[in-house]
Amino acid sequence: MNQNEKLLKEADRCVKCGICLPHCPTYTLTREEGDSPRGRISLIQGIASGALKGEQGKQHLDRCLGCLACQSACPSAVNYSQLIDGIRLKQRKPPLQRIVRQLITHAPYRRWSRIALWLYRFSGLRPLLRLLGSHRLRRLDALLPVPPRVGNWKHLYQPAAAHRGRVGLFTGCAGRLIDRTALDAAIAVLTHLGYAVVIPKNQGCCGAMHQHSGEPHKAETMTLGNQQAFAEQNLEAIIYLASGCGAQLMQHPLAAPLFEISQFLNRCDWPDSAKLSPLDYAVSLHTPCTLRHQIKAADEPAELLRRIPGIRLTLLDQIQCCGAAGSYLQEQPDMADALANRAMQQVREQSPRILATSNSGCALQFASSIRQAGLPIRSMHPIELINESLNGGKQ
Ligand code: SF4
Ligand code: SF4
Repeated sequence: MNQNEKLLKEADRCVKCGICLPHCPTYTLTREEGDSPRGRISLIQGIASGALKGEQGKQHLDRCLGCLACQSACPSAVNYSQLIDGIRLKQRKPPLQRIVRQLITHAPYRRWSRIALWLYRFSGLRPLLRLLGSHRLRRLDALLPVPPRVGNWKHLYQPAAAHRGRVGLFTGCAGRLIDRTALDAAIAVLTHLGYAVVIPKNQGCCGAMHQHSGEPHKAETMTLGNQQAFAEQNLEAIIYLASGCGAQLMQHPLAAPLFEISQFLNRCDWPDSAKLSPLDYAVSLHTPCTLRHQIKAADEPAELLRRIPGIRLTLLDQIQCCGAAGSYLQEQPDMADALANRAMQQVREQSPRILATSNSGCALQFASSIRQAGLPIRSMHPIELINESLNGGKQ
């Protein structure tokens, strides 16, 4: 069966009932059929059958976040993920987008990337770009996090309590720059609980951005690299923080069972010495689409955070996708902005001190919106709160 026949076979399973429509973030925003899962499936059928030219409907297909809320809602179990990834294989992204993706997924493993971020931030380049740059460049600039401290992780962190096991930590590509404090917090928490933490130097990007942008062969190469990096490390578990990476990593077997950090901490035994101190915080917890619709572990971060005494936790359950969606936030800036603004409405209503989310892209998106709105809210990964609580409330 060729690629078009495969797409048509899967798309034909859609009975066009429309049950998925209210779950689709782009449809609920624009109310255009082309921006709905049903409309996109019809476009895919048109392109795969040859009735439509490849470029027709491309804008609607490009606007799809790949959040898979439609797939979760579909009573006919249409594999929408297979459809959208399949059509993107036929509609390759422009060269500039591919170059940017390559840079985002490779540069964070190089020391110079952190130095370059510092230089950009504190030299005259930044005000110049803000003055003269295009909307897309200015948006990228607004997303930039405070550059993390320069320095690499050790290969092995020894447990700080009675030895309970040896786990691997997946750092992710952009996560190495965006999630540095969260990754450091994860190392601190795991060693505090008695785990030796291995961070293989030769691990790389998970490949999610390539997989969902029509470059599955590159994603496969990255998977192979990670399989090799974590092999022969004698691990009981491999742990990740960013749910976007986890959703990709779980597609292929690794050398040990794979866990999102809150999943792991909810399942492992905690030594009596690990005491959580009260945190007097109002925390709004956001659930990334990947955690909800792909990993199916939406409740795990809340279960973990509820262990902290004093914390006042509310769920951001009205939020559909925040608009981050991997490289979507820089490839579809207008749509990403509109989705972020809608998501921020519920954040404003809850008016928390902390906004917690367990995906790097979502954290970046929220942090940028919070900065621009001048709100007194900190965006954090849930593991940072656990670390703070384990440290007696010290940040
Ligand atoms: S994708 Fe599923 S829920 Fe959506 S219209 Fe098709 S059959 Fe109905
Ligand atoms: S993946 Fe998300 S954005 Fe795309 S059609 Fe499905 S619900 Fe809509």
